[in-house]
Amino acid sequence: MRIAIGGIVHETNTYCSAPTTLKDFSVLEGERLYRLAGTETQSGAALDLCAERGWTALPLLYAWTQPSGTIDRESYEEMKARLLSRLSEALPVDGVFLDLHGAGVVDGIDDLEGELARAVRALVGPGVPITAAFDLHGNITQAMADALDGVFACHEYPHIDQHLRAREAVAFLETLAEAPGATTVQVASLPLLMPTTTTFHGIGAELRDFLKAAEDEDPAVANVSFFHGFPYCDVPQVGSHVVVTHWGDAATAKALARRLAGAIWERREALRAQSLSAEEAVALAQAAAEAEGDGPVVINETSDNCGGGSPGDGTHLLRALLEAKVQNACFGFIVDPEVAEAAHRAGVGAQIDITLGGKTDELHGAPLALSAYVKALHDGRLTLQAMAKGARINYGPLARLQVDGFEIIVASRRSQTFDTEPFLALGIDVMRLALVALKSSNHFRAGFEPLARAVITADPPGLTTHQVAVFPRQKAAVPLWPLDPKASYTP
Ligand SMILES: [Zn+2]
Repeated sequence: MRIAIGGIVHETNTYCSAPTTLKDFSVLEGERLYRLAGTETQSGAALDLCAERGWTALPLLYAWTQPSGTIDRESYEEMKARLLSRLSEALPVDGVFLDLHGAGVVDGIDDLEGELARAVRALVGPGVPITAAFDLHGNITQAMADALDGVFACHEYPHIDQHLRAREAVAFLETLAEAPGATTVQVASLPLLMPTTTTFHGIGAELRDFLKAAEDEDPAVANVSFFHGFPYCDVPQVGSHVVVTHWGDAATAKALARRLAGAIWERREALRAQSLSAEEAVALAQAAAEAEGDGPVVINETSDNCGGGSPGDGTHLLRALLEAKVQNACFGFIVDPEVAEAAHRAGVGAQIDITLGGKTDELHGAPLALSAYVKALHDGRLTLQAMAKGARINYGPLARLQVDGFEIIVASRRSQTFDTEPFLALGIDVMRLALVALKSSNHFRAGFEPLARAVITADPPGLTTHQVAVFPRQKAAVPLWPLDPKASYTP
């Protein structure tokens, strides 16, 4: 088997003011894709499965960057052309595996993945199977599905199973080689804007199990993917989606997708967002820290999650913690390259005057004027240990600062906090702390839930707030729940 592997992965927050360009992407081409081998990522898993089965992997191009604003058209066209050119050189192939997100938006193209999948289909023709692995935050279109023979989204949020779903997608190419064109992929879209919802417990876990049962109970069903969707973009297909890959006819598959979507729609009240202000979250966390239990209380600032397009330099939660004079606590971390650089210049042991955070916009809070002691420094090059285990990450220079006994980690590159590695790197054992604050919506849970006595979510103003009514929408095709009382769904 000759399997081509590649993709362009971006979650586009169209409410970010700055466009995303080629220089923002990490681009791995050809053999350089093997940097991902052995990691719990989609492309890493695809390479590993090919190696295990003795198949020839044909690495094309993999481009990824942090969630951010709309991708500039020229940058997208350049990446696409390079991917297609390598695919063209790799032909003939027995299958194509695409590593995708599902919520990519390019200037003038609302559906990046649909456009890319159609271009790949046009190149390989109808007889070559194409499957794709997706992030469950994709906004999926039928046009996208029509270009693919199988859709495999991760089932978990945090996305701890993305490598497992990619393995299924690649293995499915072998099954399809026996019966090219025998599957249909059908989408049922719900007019539902879901807040970021973990699958580790609660309604997220219930819906995951319900949809997995639908996949398991009928051999004609190859995959059921539930896309929570990505609400922070103004595109016609915004919403939540059930996507069924099916061995039967399109009408049967569509009916199943719509029936499953209808069952989710009936449960929508359980998905209504609850929001705590920074001050409310801090008060609850302080109370939880005084109660019985082991490990720190974790407060996650969901509204400033770089993993959804926010800047990561918001100060709402940090300000509330400083004002509450919380002790034995660490904020890990806030993104501010200027302050990190100043700390590295001054060196360990220096006392520096800083203006921290709040530099991107006014939405995420004003900068904090502080006098800080530089306790420790690190180059910020780490390896993820929970979600996407084994993948390298570069937070840029890290600094551990102390302000009135409160610890603050400052990073230089935009990212959410995934696990305890940035703390460890700077000599902090989170198990000795009463309280840990961080910026992430749910991915942090893979690293922190096993340790935390409680998790409390703060939702002050920010580009990834659960309060989705604050985002203007021009393109939505239908009235959306919970914004519009006219929102409806009939299976
Ligand atoms: Zn996601």
